[in-house]
Amino acid sequence: MRVLVVDEQMVPRRMAAKMIKDCGVAEVLEAESADIALALLEADEKSVDLIVTDLRFDGVAGAELDGIAFVRRVAERSLASQVILASATEDCVVRSVAAMARALGLDVAGHIRKPIVPETLRPLVLRQLARRMAAPLLRARSVHVTAEELRHAIHAKQFVPYFQPRVRCEDGAVTAVEALIRWRHPERGLIPPGAFIPLADASGLLDDITDVVLEKSITWARTWRDMGIDIAVSVNLTEGSLSRPDLPARIAALADQHGIARDRVILEVTEADALTESPYAMETLARLRMNGFGLSIDDFGTGVGTLEQLMNTPFTEAKIDQSLVTGVFGQPQFLGVLEFSLRLAQELNLKTIAEGIESKADWDLLCEMGCDEMQGFYVARPMPGEEIEGWALGWHRQPL
Ligand code: C2E
Ligand code: MG
Ligand code: MG
Repeated sequence: MRVLVVDEQMVPRRMAAKMIKDCGVAEVLEAESADIALALLEADEKSVDLIVTDLRFDGVAGAELDGIAFVRRVAERSLASQVILASATEDCVVRSVAAMARALGLDVAGHIRKPIVPETLRPLVLRQLARRMAAPLLRARSVHVTAEELRHAIHAKQFVPYFQPRVRCEDGAVTAVEALIRWRHPERGLIPPGAFIPLADASGLLDDITDVVLEKSITWARTWRDMGIDIAVSVNLTEGSLSRPDLPARIAALADQHGIARDRVILEVTEADALTESPYAMETLARLRMNGFGLSIDDFGTGVGTLEQLMNTPFTEAKIDQSLVTGVFGQPQFLGVLEFSLRLAQELNLKTIAEGIESKADWDLLCEMGCDEMQGFYVARPMPGEEIEGWALGWHRQPL
């Protein structure tokens, strides 16, 4: 990640640059005026990911641009992907500049009051780092499928949920399993959800798939309970599925029909989808929580939610994204991002689950950091419902 700090005063600029470096950013550039910053950005072949800029530059001789014009030019010419506004100017001015930038398609990661202190700057920078770390994962969707093939597969009942266990750090007890959909294609084999969920969502076919997952998951929960395995089951939802007005009643009816307590059903929504502006999705989230279901923020730490936004959501737990977890013990520069996300979730009074635990080292580190539960290949891979009983029996005998 490359960051540019624009501030006419040298001491605060240097301090901000140091705070950003301390977050684990390798390259931090500095400019003392908007004119110099603009020239630097235009001359540079490599792009800048984040700009931290003041809005006033009255102290620099010959400076033509103020910070407002600078932000507009950056947005118009796509010279950076994100900006943080740092200013002592009135809040209303800063907020309207932020609105202007967003209207021009520039992502505003936040605005902070000067003087810049680590408490306000660090969280914003760490979250941008986390987003970048998660990005390659989101891009890895290469299998090509069409809506027509999806429609056929729904009809032919080719979608099956697999289940991945999650266990408590403290004593290794199995607390829940997450349903992860797979497409059992007769010729192409098992197709992962990343290859078809976005298309299903965009073409209005996801509700049918979600119905299959919900139905099978709750039926399995009952089967496992009858076998003496009393665990919760979690199901992934998108913002689109949350906009279905009948969803809470449907889930409640399924749980009642199979005699499954509401708190044994957890719905997962990614952080990006959770911070929805859709009033219908917000209504569904509130109702799901009011009805006693568990609500999980998935891929936590990769969104751009502020503490304030997150405080206004009704979640019960946070699943720390695997991009922050897997192998992090070997990358001390990323520990800060993980620690920050974990602490944010704890501040919000959420139960914490680490995704992507692949090794004993991941396990030990996350347990030591106070994370409540673990999920990942080190514990178990996702498996068909039929295999959960055998796995659960074996797991208890296994020392951690
Ligand atoms: P997710 O909900 O964050 O699920 C975790 C993903 O991480 C799963 O990928 C899981 O197999 C994988 N994983 C688990 N442990 C490890 C590990 O230790 N290392 C690594 N590298 N990966 C691990 P999967 O099954 O491919 O699912 C990808 C995403 O697709 C899910 O991410 C979820 O957002 C979405 N998805 C899956 N099933 C459904 C569904 O039924 N409905 C919806 N709307 N989305 C679903
Ligand atoms: Mg999930
Ligand atoms: Mg996740």
